[in-house]
Amino acid sequence: MFGSDGGLDSGSANLLPSSSSPWHNIIVTGSLIDDLGIGFRNSFKRVIGNGANTNFWNDYWAGTFKLSERFPRLFRLENYKECSLMDRIVGSNDAAVRRLNWDWSRVLTGRLIHQVVELADICTSIVMDVSKIDSWSWSLSSSGCFSVRELTGIIEDHGLPSVNMVQESLLNRLVPKKLEVFVWRAIKKRLPVRCELDKRGIDLHSLRCPLCDDELESVDHTLIFCKHALDVWDRIYSWCGLGNFLNLSIGEILRGNSPCNMSCIGKTVWQAIEWVGAYFIWKNRNNKVFRDKIRTAPVTLSEIQLKSFEWISNRLRGRKLDWLTWLTNPSSYFSL
Ligand SMILES: [Zn+2]
Repeated sequence: MFGSDGGLDSGSANLLPSSSSPWHNIIVTGSLIDDLGIGFRNSFKRVIGNGANTNFWNDYWAGTFKLSERFPRLFRLENYKECSLMDRIVGSNDAAVRRLNWDWSRVLTGRLIHQVVELADICTSIVMDVSKIDSWSWSLSSSGCFSVRELTGIIEDHGLPSVNMVQESLLNRLVPKKLEVFVWRAIKKRLPVRCELDKRGIDLHSLRCPLCDDELESVDHTLIFCKHALDVWDRIYSWCGLGNFLNLSIGEILRGNSPCNMSCIGKTVWQAIEWVGAYFIWKNRNNKVFRDKIRTAPVTLSEIQLKSFEWISNRLRGRKLDWLTWLTNPSSYFSL
């Protein structure tokens, strides 16, 4: 699984026995993370300690190759093909006094002598620390230790390619950064809905929408066309006095579809409400998938009203929102 430089091997997915294997999913997920430009799969490096947990012939401890492939004739003559580094290099941190402990099935002659000399050079040049066990280091953390929390932070940083977002007008100063990331991912079809996971080779028992079970679960279906989403959008449009909800694509909605009578700030306020709406529809979907709970459309609308009020009023400089006005006539803020 670990690649030629000690990192996760991008070609290893082909070697896995089944696409339903957890390792298959992990590697595909690694690939998705790499798509963000993070270099995740190559971020795990082997740190050699006493060599007890490192396979001498088949781990990438010596550089960008396996010894079994670099020295196939010697490997055939090895008596114990699963031997560890510690079995073959009898250790000292001082390479000059290391002893090499071979176990061949016959006496080496001819060219094999030259090969074993080359192999010995590799073994004596490796840096070891015999007082420690072998371990892995995660190069994306200054501590060398992998943590989901740190990885989440890195993904969030990379998941927001600011230049692209400015170019595509996907910034809205009235919402938290995580909503900008969410919107960018939704428009780029990078939300992990079942159809998108399936395209990336992850086996799922069903591709149907976990909420309605009527259609395949795409990003557009989840955020707009699912009957649960439509119910929420109808209520948002009604609350904001904007008439009937138009069945637009998620890109059209989130990039901005404001009526022309709105002011510049009003358009930003309306776009912020739409983004909060899509975000809570997505949260509702995740509640169903991960907790088997679903909120009704009126409850979801209440959450959208409350959270949009909180986020927008905290960021709208020079203006104060009034909670009662927000609940009963939010469109009065569309002409600020
Ligand atoms: Zn649905």
